[in-house]
Amino acid sequence: MDEGGALPQDCAQSAACREGAVHKGPGQNRLVGVVHAGNRPRARDAAGVHEHLLAAIVDQRLPPGTRLTEADLVETFDLGRRVVGEVLHRLAWEGLVTILPNRGARVASPDAAEARAIFAARRAIEAGTAEAVARAGDPAAVAALSENLAEEGRLRAAGRLREAIRLSGGFHVLVANLSGNPILAGAVRLLVARTSLVIALFDNRGGLACWHDDHASFVELVRRRRHRAAAALMRHHLLEIERDLRLDRPRREAIDIRSALARPLA
Ligand SMILES: [Zn+2]
Repeated sequence: MDEGGALPQDCAQSAACREGAVHKGPGQNRLVGVVHAGNRPRARDAAGVHEHLLAAIVDQRLPPGTRLTEADLVETFDLGRRVVGEVLHRLAWEGLVTILPNRGARVASPDAAEARAIFAARRAIEAGTAEAVARAGDPAAVAALSENLAEEGRLRAAGRLREAIRLSGGFHVLVANLSGNPILAGAVRLLVARTSLVIALFDNRGGLACWHDDHASFVELVRRRRHRAAAALMRHHLLEIERDLRLDRPRREAIDIRSALARPLA
């Protein structure tokens, strides 16, 4: 993929995007290490560490299978082992981390069956959040969704793929937030993160997935308050992403979590 040319317009963190964003050659999208204290991610407590790790999973700086050692995390965040352990157990409960006795914690690697379950759950929940947002047709919601689309476009055009990828996943979280139901919004946020893991693990059948247009179409349906069509589009959109995945193409890379969690160069 040429970062300077046409960029993939997928919504949900395609493998191509991940490679473009994280695994480029020397000098491109390099992450700053944590040699300097100023580069450490700032987190004061367990909630802050959780936010950092969740964001790193969502934008695929921490791919599936990445080992998360307590010692590395303690060093990275400059917080105690108790805090780090608490966060790892929360992430495990959320399905984002796997903890094995005597083998430590790793970023979860959903298998094909789990991947299908994640997409099925998303279709069930997000058809509902999509319908609720479109039924209300609140101009403020249309404005917020439009701003997400525009900002994603700007980030992609500027080559800031990791942020663009996160924002495109965030579109779905935004829809859920706009639905006004915090329980559904929390569920969607975690499912979007788990989708990041799935898409990092399985190759895309079509190479690139161009789902950006679906988001734009969705915003238009909200504006016109076509709630049934909005729900149908969301279901279809998520089904298309699932169908594009090659479940026989697992990917695994080992990376240094201290570098991955450091703040990226601007
Ligand atoms: Zn999408």
